[in-house]
Amino acid sequence: MKVNKFIENCEKKLAEKFRLAEDIAYFNESKVLDAFNEYNIALRHFNGTTGYGYDDEGRDTLGKLYAKAFGAEAGIVSPHLLSGTHALTVALFGLLRPNDTLFCISGMPYDTIRGVIFGENNGSLKDFGVKFDYCGLDADGKFDKHAIKSKFNDSVKVVYIQRSRGYELRDAFSCGEIGEICKFVHSLGFKGCIFVDNCYGEFVEKNEPTEVGADIIVGSLIKNAGGGLAPTGGYICGKQNYIDLIGKRLTAPSIGLEVGSYEGGYRYFYQGLYMAPHVVAQAIKTSLLIGQAMGELGYKNYPSLDKVPHDITRAIQFDSAEKMVNFIREVQYASPVDGYVTCEPWDMPGYDDKIIMAAGTFVSGASIELSADGPVKPPYIAYFQGGLTYEHGKYALDRILNKL
Ligand SMILES: *Cc1c(COP(=O)(O)O)cnc(C)c1O
Repeated sequence: MKVNKFIENCEKKLAEKFRLAEDIAYFNESKVLDAFNEYNIALRHFNGTTGYGYDDEGRDTLGKLYAKAFGAEAGIVSPHLLSGTHALTVALFGLLRPNDTLFCISGMPYDTIRGVIFGENNGSLKDFGVKFDYCGLDADGKFDKHAIKSKFNDSVKVVYIQRSRGYELRDAFSCGEIGEICKFVHSLGFKGCIFVDNCYGEFVEKNEPTEVGADIIVGSLIKNAGGGLAPTGGYICGKQNYIDLIGKRLTAPSIGLEVGSYEGGYRYFYQGLYMAPHVVAQAIKTSLLIGQAMGELGYKNYPSLDKVPHDITRAIQFDSAEKMVNFIREVQYASPVDGYVTCEPWDMPGYDDKIIMAAGTFVSGASIELSADGPVKPPYIAYFQGGLTYEHGKYALDRILNKL
């Protein structure tokens, strides 16, 4: 009972931010429904196809629908994009050629992308002669314009921005910040592609990076953009000419986006997009509630609660490995699937450190569902995200508070 009063108090303090999150969800749901209307979505779009998948209307229209909802010219949305990392890989290989430079201006990219860019003898971009450079962020965790300008050169063909924090302790970039840095990059004479890893950022704000100057955005359907329903997949949206190039890399240079079947059908992908703005608001409210409660108990956590966050993740710092691990285990125990399982740190493919991950999810590993993870090493930060319903988030918090 004491704990419940505490949660209620936290909720009262968050009322205004909850209202803002719901306002954003309404705005984005309107965008999504306008797109459904524009493309006259009907039951036939959900049908599966087999073989080559020529004239697969469900596949083609799904790409257009996502593009429209993200304010982009064109899009690829496919169960054949296996994850966020794979979607990012296909997009980068589609855009870059030997001797081009990929220039990341948001610090070192996410762990699983590093092997894609500069792995040794593993088929990375580096193995194919693509160069890489990056720029750290300034002391406040913001884009460092001086450093960007000083490192910029004519071989840069793709400017890479990671919107969400990954396993770093910085805030996600807002679309306002991304728009401003796009202008800045163009002011340096850049004519190539501005590329955004949009993972965890979709529908968190009223616009997407493609509406403020980015040329390509990429993300996973088992995060925000799949609304908790897409069973797998990723998306790549942006300028038509870039999407054409990337389509030729997804399939074959002679074929492009004309083929690709999926017998399972597309209903969950369409319905997932329809659900996404609402589900993202549930996750944002959950993140705010956990942040408020943990903050009041003295646990440092980010992003700060004085604004609506720019992604769905929350970084919570613990003073020992044990507390961090206990927190993550409790998230697992509060899950609808595999709730009886005790999480252990393990060597996950693509990561350098041992990672502990709670994901008691309906879609395996989906982090739009309530989940928490992090490398078990100082400063012991758990990254918490998701929640298909706010009620589930609150239930998990109740259990966490009892444990703490
Ligand atoms: C999750 C994530 C990825 C990779 O997505 P996967 O689906 O896990 O491969 C890339 N970048 C960021 C910022 C992410 O959060």
